[in-house]
Amino acid sequence: MLLALGLAVPAAADEHHGTVATPVCHAATDAARTVEAMIPKDAWNCTGEGWTAREPLGWLRFDAASWQGEVVPRHFFTRTARFEAITLYALDRDGSLRGVRYTESEGKSFPGGPVFQLALPEITPDTTAVLARIERPHSIPLLTEAGLVRHTEDAARTLEEMMLLALVLGMLVLPLMFDVSFYLVLRESFVLFHALMVVAMMGYVLFAGGVISVVASLPVAFLAIMAPLCWAVGCGAALLFLSRFLERGALSRGMRRLTFWAGCWTIAVPGFFAIQFHATQAFDDTGYFLTITPAAVIVSVALIHAILRGSRSAKWVAAAWFPLILTSIERLTRGLGVYAGPASLDLMMFMATGIEVVVISLAIADRFFAIREERDAALTEARMLEQISTRDSLTGLMNRRAIEARFDELLTQGFNTFALIDLDRFKAINDLHGHQVGDAALIACANAIRTTGERDSIAVRLGGEEFVVLLRGDRTLERAEALRQAIPIRIAQDVPGLDLPVTASMGVITLAQAARRSMAFAEFYARADALMYEAKASGRNRLAYERLTVFAERPAPRKREEAA
Ligand code: GH3
Ligand code: MG
Ligand code: MG
Repeated sequence: MLLALGLAVPAAADEHHGTVATPVCHAATDAARTVEAMIPKDAWNCTGEGWTAREPLGWLRFDAASWQGEVVPRHFFTRTARFEAITLYALDRDGSLRGVRYTESEGKSFPGGPVFQLALPEITPDTTAVLARIERPHSIPLLTEAGLVRHTEDAARTLEEMMLLALVLGMLVLPLMFDVSFYLVLRESFVLFHALMVVAMMGYVLFAGGVISVVASLPVAFLAIMAPLCWAVGCGAALLFLSRFLERGALSRGMRRLTFWAGCWTIAVPGFFAIQFHATQAFDDTGYFLTITPAAVIVSVALIHAILRGSRSAKWVAAAWFPLILTSIERLTRGLGVYAGPASLDLMMFMATGIEVVVISLAIADRFFAIREERDAALTEARMLEQISTRDSLTGLMNRRAIEARFDELLTQGFNTFALIDLDRFKAINDLHGHQVGDAALIACANAIRTTGERDSIAVRLGGEEFVVLLRGDRTLERAEALRQAIPIRIAQDVPGLDLPVTASMGVITLAQAARRSMAFAEFYARADALMYEAKASGRNRLAYERLTVFAERPAPRKREEAA
């Protein structure tokens, strides 16, 4: 790359003359205006103001009087933008004209930034002026940044300038790699938007900076489209990035939406004008700059808004973008023809671009750690919520949702006994002593069957005054019965003042072998409930028991035809 740069820059410094002439006068006319009509001096505007790219024809005049010393120009060059054709005329003292007409495809780009050049017709000592007739000029800089040079290389960027651009390009590669690795870890969309922005900036440096011309000579139309297109995509991606990058709460909902949609708009609308269709020539230059301006305004407003809300990452972004916003405003005003500064001012923007990516990469790194902390906190909260959702709030026992979710797993862990418990005549407790006492009795019951620290039984409150204990290991039936008998004792102990003991009935099912294949919770529950009914019917305060030695495999879901 450096070698190519070295070759592209003229070796003999004494042959380097720089720009020989810049346009002293200009004009904008309808398509019918002939070059003969432009010979009189009063056909021109020589104030240096009032530039426009809206008329079908743009005219430039270079006076021989302004040529530096003896140096006679041979080439016309200007900033790359779209146009239909350019005719260059040499106007001699006797009023005769020599012209050469070039179409857009004949323009030659070279490593001189976003510029192309055309050979002048023969210039003689009698030539008093060079006139340029530009058909359908698409941008003001195409007119204001034109010049005549002796040698092709005279309009090229200096070696220093090209080195600076190469450096900026190099600086852009790193954040791109950064973005890829961040994305692999974070999966946050803002990293992708930032990558898009970096790619667009690389495109801008390549196409608008003219670096691409070192390696390839591309058509003027292509370069003319790519440079503003990259800039539009870059600005749009910046907005999209901002809308997703800042912490939650840094932007109000409306502001976040505005930023996001302004990003989409900036890619689509100025992106459209960047293509510079000949049909839109009258307004595509103004259209581009006017539709891209809101991006700069919204970015500034959003950043101030977020900083006022105490956003840390907004401060990073503001630091990163400040130089870029300043240089963008400069470029915007120049693009709109508010003033005609030299094209070399673009270099400031390239430097600002380099600063941007480095600072933003640091900002993303900073945000990376913040996001990780946020994630950890969210994870802890989620665990807490899960705890809450699996526990019964009154007794602290596991609830029905939790047992159902874990039921298959518990069966395979060997819990082969399902003991359903229902308190006897519990309604009467509520009716006689009130719900508060009823609640206290439920808590006491839960404490009676809760076997803290024991790994071979699990107590669950199904709802109301219904409980389940799952058991595994030896003598599960005896252990279930012992728990049942412990209930009235514990309630009497914990809830004094009850005139009658609160007993419990139980329906117990045991699988002969720990189930190889699982049986549904609902099936256990239904069978245990049937046993419970027996226990209640035969006088309450007792246990009904069934041992299942054979059980049907869970029926496969019936097919539609069979069901019909
Ligand atoms: P049985 O012996 O036939 O089971 O009689 P029972 O009175 O226990 O009958 P049933 O199951 O119909 O009544 C359950 C009662 O449990 C109804 C309701 O008042 C009471 N209950 C259900 N949930 C709660 C609760 O969370 N707190 C209190 N205090 N009472 C509850
Ligand atoms: Mg009940
Ligand atoms: Mg009951």
